[in-house]
Amino acid sequence: MFDVKIVNGTILDGTGKFRYKGDVGIEGDKITAIGDLSAADAKKTIDAAGKFVAPGFIDFHTHSDLSLVYDKFTRSRIYTGVTMDVVANCGIGVAPIREERKKELIDYLGTRIIGTIPAPLELHWNTMQEYFDYLEEHTPAVNVVAYVAQGPVRIDEMGFSKEPATPEQLENMKAEVRKAMEAGCVAMSSGLVYLPGAYTQKEEMAELAKELKPYNGYYISHIRNEGDEEMDALDEAIWIARTADVPLHVSHLKVMGHHNFGSIDKVFEKLDEAEASGMEVRFDCYPYTAGMTSLGALLPPWAFEGGVEALVERLKVQENRDRIKKELTTGIPGWQCFYLMAGGWDGVVIASVMTEANKYAEGKTVDEVAKMNNEDAFDTFFRLLIEEKSKVQVVVHTQGEEDTDKVVVHPKTCFGSDSMDLSMEGLLSIGKPHPRAFGTFGRIFSYYVREKGMLTFEDAVRKMTSLPAKYLGISADRGTLKEGYFADVVVFDPEKIADKATYEDPKQYTVGVDYVLVNGQIALAEGKQTDVCAGHVVKNPCTAGKKA
Ligand SMILES: [Zn+2]
Repeated sequence: MFDVKIVNGTILDGTGKFRYKGDVGIEGDKITAIGDLSAADAKKTIDAAGKFVAPGFIDFHTHSDLSLVYDKFTRSRIYTGVTMDVVANCGIGVAPIREERKKELIDYLGTRIIGTIPAPLELHWNTMQEYFDYLEEHTPAVNVVAYVAQGPVRIDEMGFSKEPATPEQLENMKAEVRKAMEAGCVAMSSGLVYLPGAYTQKEEMAELAKELKPYNGYYISHIRNEGDEEMDALDEAIWIARTADVPLHVSHLKVMGHHNFGSIDKVFEKLDEAEASGMEVRFDCYPYTAGMTSLGALLPPWAFEGGVEALVERLKVQENRDRIKKELTTGIPGWQCFYLMAGGWDGVVIASVMTEANKYAEGKTVDEVAKMNNEDAFDTFFRLLIEEKSKVQVVVHTQGEEDTDKVVVHPKTCFGSDSMDLSMEGLLSIGKPHPRAFGTFGRIFSYYVREKGMLTFEDAVRKMTSLPAKYLGISADRGTLKEGYFADVVVFDPEKIADKATYEDPKQYTVGVDYVLVNGQIALAEGKQTDVCAGHVVKNPCTAGKKA
């Protein structure tokens, strides 16, 4: 007697193996049989005739750390067939953080993609272990895998200091990385265009990354530059991972800047070379030519010194404004200038603001907002940062189509929405976000599989399931439709699955997904989300094994 059986469907098992007809039987949270189950009894039978049955998709790059605390239904994910969010990317995370530093971290998170939630931010924990416990207690709809983010590790120890860590500080940070890995994190992430990553030198980072090896962890990085100095930034990432003797994972691989379009092959070449020298290298991407970041990320690092309040005061001083304007238009060696990569204010679109007064700006370029207000676009930029206390998100049009296509189809690429989970209604229906939060996985099928024919269904599903599971180190029981594996399952219509989210109208759920099961529980039925939340924190099996 199965709890659930899915019958008459076509199975894509996630490994890339060609599709075949078969039924899936589920007992409790596990898949217990695959084959002809027509004669078997089940409490619930799902008819998947004409549909594909696949492992639940893994969103490899998210910033849902707080959104799934504030709205556990993770709707933009469930509607697109995602059953797992990987959090704490880009060095941005919610722990470890000691009590005395919490306010600093909260202020900072509020200016980043992760914390633009229109509610007072609270961190009910200090350690990753406590964060995991909190999630387990409040059960989100999707499973969660986490990194230890280098940002909070450094803020916890040193605040927003620009200085290199002293030997004692370094020892303390290493201990925190170890503690987080012990708690079940699978890797350490860094974001070297963000603070405090931008203040962190490669030697310090490599020392921290050395702590990952005993846990089969890897170093995953939003590298220091994805535009004019990307080759140097890749060298640095390779050096750090090699020095620490761990695999390197490059986050949202891309080439930014209109004048750099067409150079992704050089990036692949460099990564291939690194791999040929004996290290493991992989990457993820989102299938769009625009990125999303905070408006504050367009500022040179010195502007943020001392935190958000200091920034706001600094931006009121004409001398500082002049200096920033000059640095943005000419660039600073060693620093990635989003303004130049986007080709100016015309390529920077306001996605979300916090105050009612500036809501009109959402969906408009900084140029357009400036024209509406009869002001210089730089003054608009400064004004928005001041009025919103830097809590502004922007969509930046920085990448080329051909490069993006090549990354998407590369056999090593898995997919991540690089977003926090959002919703069409309620607290997390925020502004005009990047469509990737809602559309990433649907778009792979509608555009790259059906329209362009650049990926097969089998390969697209592999890149969403068994491949990321392997990278995360959890492939022994997740990411494949197989007996004994956890029943994270999606049933979708191969003809209909499609993203509806556009830049103009981004808050639209993906269509064509009929059923989603998370740990054997039905989270989406007949295309509608249920009220079931059955996600778990999925921990590093290496740590779990050691403890057992
Ligand atoms: Zn990033």
